Amino acid sequence: MAAASPLLGALGPIGVLIGIGLVVKAIADSNDEEREKRTALEQYWLRRREQARGAVLGAARRIQNVAGLQSLPPFVEAPGTRNAWVLGEVVYYDPDWIMELLEDHCNDRTCNTSVVVGLVAHELGHWVYGDTYDFATHSWRKEYRADAWAAKVLAALGIPASHFRCVIEVLDPNGGRSHPPGPYRAEHIRVVYLRALGYRVAA
Ligand SMILES: [Zn+2]
Repeated sequence: MAAASPLLGALGPIGVLIGIGLVVKAIADSNDEEREKRTALEQYWLRRREQARGAVLGAARRIQNVAGLQSLPPFVEAPGTRNAWVLGEVVYYDPDWIMELLEDHCNDRTCNTSVVVGLVAHELGHWVYGDTYDFATHSWRKEYRADAWAAKVLAALGIPASHFRCVIEVLDPNGGRSHPPGPYRAEHIRVVYLRALGYRVAA
């Protein structure tokens, strides 16, 4: 474009008009390209969020069947939070984070799917007990209780507890005021899971 402009300028006013026309067209083309790129990217994220929704709802339905739940809460997307929680009887989850877990957390798809089942089971555990996330009043007891509910669901589904423990252990290794450290939770899940299968396990 830069090389063409002086030449077109030499042609006089018509050349200038052609030159302006070419510049306008070049800007329009690059805008189209930008728009196409943006649309492709938006489509990509939309597809991933649909996949995440499918995985979360699929897990919820499996849990509903095995736990005999009459209904399920609404599941609402909260992109960018890298978390899942229950607030006012609604389960919020980050679909992009769910997809990351599904694709990358363990080395195989079965384990990754189980990771998501475990996480959804934990949130449904909160929902069943009527917990609602409030940093001021949230307690370790509520976390252990939701984990125990999830561990029993995993045992009933025949999913190895290790598949849930492997994510709980590393998600929040140090814990805090509202959540026990990951390794404590993983050990508690192991004990509840084995007991659900009828083993006598010392806590
Ligand atoms: Zn929780």
